[in-house]
Amino acid sequence: MAEANNTPYPYEAPASQGLFDRAEAVTPGGVNSPVRAFRAVGGTPRFMVSGNGPYLTDADGREYVDLVCSWGPMILGHSHPEVIAAVQEAVSRGTSFGTPGAGEVELAEEIVGRIDPVEQVRLVSSGTEATMSAIRLARGFTGRAKVIKFAGCYHGHVDALLAAAGSGVATLGLPDTPGVTGAQAGDTIVLPYNDIEAVRAAFAAHPGQIACVITEASPGNMGVVPPKAGFNQGLKDVCAENGALFISDEVMTGFRTSKAGWFGVDGVVPDLMTFGKVMGGGFPAAAFGGRADVMAYLAPAGPVYQAGTLSGNPVATAAGVAQLRLLDDAAYAKVNATSEQLRGLVSEALTKEGVAHRVQNASNMFTVFFTENEVTNYEDAKGQDAFRFGPFFHSMLEQGVYLPPSAFESWFVSTAHDERAIERIAAALPAAARAAAEATA
Ligand code: PLP
Repeated sequence: MAEANNTPYPYEAPASQGLFDRAEAVTPGGVNSPVRAFRAVGGTPRFMVSGNGPYLTDADGREYVDLVCSWGPMILGHSHPEVIAAVQEAVSRGTSFGTPGAGEVELAEEIVGRIDPVEQVRLVSSGTEATMSAIRLARGFTGRAKVIKFAGCYHGHVDALLAAAGSGVATLGLPDTPGVTGAQAGDTIVLPYNDIEAVRAAFAAHPGQIACVITEASPGNMGVVPPKAGFNQGLKDVCAENGALFISDEVMTGFRTSKAGWFGVDGVVPDLMTFGKVMGGGFPAAAFGGRADVMAYLAPAGPVYQAGTLSGNPVATAAGVAQLRLLDDAAYAKVNATSEQLRGLVSEALTKEGVAHRVQNASNMFTVFFTENEVTNYEDAKGQDAFRFGPFFHSMLEQGVYLPPSAFESWFVSTAHDERAIERIAAALPAAARAAAEATA
């Protein structure tokens, strides 16, 4: 491994730039998932070569405290020895069989054992697959077509669920991206988050037509915007009154916000739930599950088709089982305490520089919004002084702290974020807060 190169601000990244140039030649935009390209903040995306505990090391040999944690999965930090050992042991027995295996039973049992509303679960390979399949199942089970989702909630790049990103056309259920047809998006009703009256009105306007409501259990994809007290229960009740299913998307919150995810925090019982990220231990593993009578509609038990060559992959399930088994009460207490400490440090630094901000959290997930106002939905989130984020982000990056490269994302911490890592973040914050204060629109 290259020796850590902690060159201070300003910092060039020639090796990352070289890789990015090569990547742009062979991959659209140079990345395999858009946010990684740094378009919202500018500059050269850092190409990472290794991760260890709370740190990532890039192609230029520079070490960063990682506050992205692979967008949530790495809740034990990078290269946790017990997860790595489980993966190595699994790999030594083969990488894919295309048959049932013990690992997938163990992972399913871990999920069902932790989350009461999940009586049965089906494993898939990505969160996108999980939500796509849950929607299909809800439609198959109810015999209805329409789906309610909320502006600013992200459920992966499922065609029907991309009619979303807050524009005026989105509220009309029109496609939000070229390639999604009117037919695919036409049954999607997009509503403002945290607005239960809008949900009631939509059910009244479309009697007997709505198959399900899907929501992030506690949204993290417009920044962290927790549900108002009673909102999730309200969704559950409205669905029950109208014969629709309530789908709680816990791809981000699941096994992160508590041992039982956001369900463990608010106790609202969904009909179906979706999972990903933490449950895969850094590998492509995701799941959807819930009521046994609904899950019984899935092939081969029932008529709704769903399948996957690599579903329940033995290496991915070994990583997931190892990670989940390490996530006891003490682990969540540690991650929550670290998150609280960091939230305090960021707020203190911004306050010192007179930067209007608001730190919102859902358990240990948090976002620093550049506004004093409470953010309760996507419109509020877009109302922040997002122009302050780029300079803040780059100052942190240049001082060796890797933040999500967007003002509309959650920050993630792990059990591996120790005092040394926190001190490095604390040391970087004053200059970053100054950069945010000096930013102009
Ligand atoms: N649902 C939520 C709430 C997510 O945050 C994400 C990804 O960030 C997804 C679904 C999609 O998961 P994946 O990226 O694994 O397809």
